[in-house]
Amino acid sequence: MEFLPQEIIRKKRDRHPLSDDEMKSFVRGITDESISEGQIAAFAMAVFFNGMDMDERIALTLAMRDSGDVLGWDGFDLDGPVLDKHSTGGVGDVVSLMLGPMIAACGGYVPMISGRGLGHTGGTLDKLESIPGYDVAPSIGRLQEVVRTVGVAIIGQTGSLAPADRRFYATRDITATVESIDLITASILSKKLAAGLGALVMDVKVGNGAFMPTAEGSRDLAQNIANVATGAGTPTTALLTDMNQCLAPAAGNAVEVREAIATLTNARRSPRLDEVVMGLGTELLILGGLAESVAEAANRLESTITSGLAAEVFGRMIAALGGPTDLVELPEKYLASAPVIRPIHPDRSGFVVGMKTREIGLSVVGLGGGRTRSDQSIDHSVGFSEIASVGTETGPGGPLAIVHARSEDAAERAAEEMRAAFEIGDFTVEPQPAILQRILNSHDLGI
Ligand code: URA
Repeated sequence: MEFLPQEIIRKKRDRHPLSDDEMKSFVRGITDESISEGQIAAFAMAVFFNGMDMDERIALTLAMRDSGDVLGWDGFDLDGPVLDKHSTGGVGDVVSLMLGPMIAACGGYVPMISGRGLGHTGGTLDKLESIPGYDVAPSIGRLQEVVRTVGVAIIGQTGSLAPADRRFYATRDITATVESIDLITASILSKKLAAGLGALVMDVKVGNGAFMPTAEGSRDLAQNIANVATGAGTPTTALLTDMNQCLAPAAGNAVEVREAIATLTNARRSPRLDEVVMGLGTELLILGGLAESVAEAANRLESTITSGLAAEVFGRMIAALGGPTDLVELPEKYLASAPVIRPIHPDRSGFVVGMKTREIGLSVVGLGGGRTRSDQSIDHSVGFSEIASVGTETGPGGPLAIVHARSEDAAERAAEEMRAAFEIGDFTVEPQPAILQRILNSHDLGI
């Protein structure tokens, strides 16, 4: 049934709830372009000010999900659940590259649709593109085949998944309506749920490197996503995780892939990264029925690393999507290395008591490892490694980080930025835990 768009906007403007059919009609109009940009903007602003009730949020999410292809898995004879994770984005957030293979090694199937870097945050797709030959845009058929045979495929958003979101988001972006929790929820979930998931875990970052400006906003977004996704038929929980410092000790593209491989092969572990990977993985294994308790899930996840199985699955995914067959064994043969690699020493000795995480992400962009315009190409080799974490002693023998740069000038600029981004004190401090809160959905909470 079709409705006049201006009547739908009027209803929302006057705080009346929209029906499923009205929501579907409006989203259909966004997708087939029968609704104008002005009407999308007016609708977004009405939602921004008046919000939506839970039925409307679910209806909008499902209508946007159904605006394009929705993957079905029935014909694939999978012997485990289809699972995925999503993060609101951070600095040094290399979780997906490890968690996808680990979940697959535990018997889950992970069709992970990921994005590029946005502003100061890194993007999983950009990281994967530092691997020569890796195809981030295979056909849906190939994606599904790799998920069936390997257990995990991490690829980019295709034009056919949730196309309504592309037009809706582009209009929100230029009309000051991105910052609506209901619209962010529908935008994120429409793309994720189009992969036909059985369960989802959400990593919502909190802190000075997070997408949401306040801890309260992060909590509200996490709760809304958990409730809307679960209401839309995909059981979902969320973790609030700390982004007041870089998550991994590396930030950039190839440098983060090296970090992921080091963790997957158990060569080097970073406690905060481990905590978040294990926390999200535990949620997924329990949601997907692959483990009954936190202890069982944690044991299974850890054994995928110590047995080498997760590294093997990661290597098989890379090869199946066009990358080298021996990346895990020989990362240095394939991952780009920057011409200038040197330590950044602090101005004074002491302890890291805090850092401006967003500024560190922007410094990676400044080195050429991210974009300031969406059509820019990026330098995969640059970034930072061995980034000191909060509580660490630094001084002449303990640098703030190692910079990977295209030139001496770029390295010096980045070194200055890093010195300004780190706060050094005389005494050590206890860092916040990496996982701040677990957010259950309203179904699990019995509400
Ligand atoms: N990321 C998305 O995918 N959508 C939003 O609306 C905001 C962040």
